[in-house]
Amino acid sequence: MSAVWLIGDPVAHSLSPAMHNAAFATLGLPHRYEVREVKAAELADALGSIRHEDVLGANVTIPHKEAALRLVDDVSDEARRIGAINTIVRRGRRLAADNTDGYGFGRALEEASIKARRALVLGAGGAARACVVELLRAGVDVSVANRTRARAESLARSIRVDHARARAVTWPTQDDLDATDLVVNATPLGMHNEDPIKGRRLPRAIVDLIPLATETPLVKRAKAAENVTVVDGLSMLLHQAARSFELWTGVPAPLEAMRSALPRPIP
Ligand code: NAP
Repeated sequence: MSAVWLIGDPVAHSLSPAMHNAAFATLGLPHRYEVREVKAAELADALGSIRHEDVLGANVTIPHKEAALRLVDDVSDEARRIGAINTIVRRGRRLAADNTDGYGFGRALEEASIKARRALVLGAGGAARACVVELLRAGVDVSVANRTRARAESLARSIRVDHARARAVTWPTQDDLDATDLVVNATPLGMHNEDPIKGRRLPRAIVDLIPLATETPLVKRAKAAENVTVVDGLSMLLHQAARSFELWTGVPAPLEAMRSALPRPIP
């Protein structure tokens, strides 16, 4: 049996083990997906130990996606462009890293038939970076608002797709929201019942990246509103997981088995 680790902090709430272990069982593969809570100071050692153990690879999650990029041997073009990794494949003693978040986000938008001209991304961490790359690739005009403005500015400077860049903006007012088609919540606001744009009128599409067993307040509000299309974090979670699974195993992911392992149907 080989293991796949999920490295992050916190990881106890993660829905990824259920999905990946269902996929391994469906295909009769003798592997196991396990969570490893790793603090920032322990990250280098945790990644180093993948090289020497019976481990196929790993997922890297909040808050290590950017730091982990500097600790692996090979980085895909996609992960380099995003500036963050979420998947590691062990090749002998070498660690090859990729990022499947943008793919997952793109598939989630596609399943919900969302086509936006203007998008506002909340957050400027690893997940936000993947979403920004995917939106720019689709020709969308992208703004990024972050609690720490300097990080949004750094994102805007460092990501370029063809000649397009995102712009850093302040936390959105109602006017900003009215001028956008799509808001993407790429912060953890919602994990503990927060709504990142509480009290504000919603644009016509919302993507909330937070993948929880229960719906976030933002998803609930968007579902209850008229004419608002909503994508829940479980949808992106499913599709990024399927792509990661294929990188570790080299076989097509059993998508429906993975979907069924989620705690509720994806809206
Ligand atoms: P990250 O790199 O740690 O970035 C977190 C971002 O959220 C930063 O921009 C941070 O702002 C902001 N933030 C944190 N706490 C905040 C608060 N209390 N108020 C306002 N902003 C706050 O994390 P990440 O990997 O990008 O993940 C972000 C979220 O996306 C997480 O909830 C994660 O679960 C979710 N995610 C979901 C999927 C999926 O498949 N559904 C995939 C990836 C990530 P500062 O710069 O000011 O710290």
